[in-house]
Amino acid sequence: MKKLVIATHNAGKLKEFQALLAPLGYEAVSAGALGLPEPAETAPDFAGNARIKALAAARASGLPALADDSGLCVAALNGQPGVYSSRYAGDDYPGAFAKIIAAAKARDNWAAWFTCALCLAQPDGSTATYIGEAHGRIAAAPRGAAGFGYDPIFIPEGYEQSYAELGPEKDKISHRARACAQMTAALAGSNTARP
Ligand code: IMP
Repeated sequence: MKKLVIATHNAGKLKEFQALLAPLGYEAVSAGALGLPEPAETAPDFAGNARIKALAAARASGLPALADDSGLCVAALNGQPGVYSSRYAGDDYPGAFAKIIAAAKARDNWAAWFTCALCLAQPDGSTATYIGEAHGRIAAAPRGAAGFGYDPIFIPEGYEQSYAELGPEKDKISHRARACAQMTAALAGSNTARP
């Protein structure tokens, strides 16, 4: 198995990456487990923040590093919380669910989408970025216990269950899975595929 640092301190994301990358022959080790510091996410967009995190982890570990910056964009909130998804919820996800559901109800607009920017960085500073999106709608009430973050209030297009009700099925269709598929295709199609 080739080692790939996952530049995250989020246990939910790490678990999904381990499931997504194991069949491709990669052992995903978290930045948290290696004791790497968490850089400030100062970019205004997903791709910029993914790049900051991947480069910091690759340089500090001397290994290829993969970072994900992702979030939930809600049409009734003009695309927010987006890159601020983690900060919007803080320690109170039930409170964030209630605010989002209230906004969707008030504007009678339930559309939402998750975006994931994946950045693969090498210790020499080179990077490649892949974007995945999953469109769907906000659930009228939180549902399901699997997953993490906003999973209980997001119902992907073509499904009646929330991400949190889908369990491992989420890994086949999620924004993160789509970004990963793009990265895999790009690595497979390149003669100089790294890592
Ligand atoms: P980041 O670590 O700054 O990229 O924050 C991403 C935040 O977006 C997470 O803490 C969650 O709140 C939210 N998020 C991203 N991906 C997912 C997902 O797959 N399910 C639920 N919430 C997610």
